[in-house]
Amino acid sequence: MNACVKCQSEHLIKLNEMEDISFKNVTLPVYSEFSRCESCGDEFINKEQGCRNDLAFLEAKQKADEMMPPDL
Ligand SMILES: [Zn+2]
Repeated sequence: MNACVKCQSEHLIKLNEMEDISFKNVTLPVYSEFSRCESCGDEFINKEQGCRNDLAFLEAKQKADEMMPPDL
């Protein structure tokens, strides 16, 4: 089920953007997916998108860690 939490409309647009997320002393551009309701304009992240966003954030963190010396 994929419906707006506010108005229950099923007319959702899938969007994505690069979000800047602070991690340690750097800002990581992280791919982020979300949906926007065509009826009321509400924006939200469903479970599936949330999982993908978490993965994207993890990957970005790992890449950043590889470039940085480990914390000692
Ligand atoms: Zn809505």
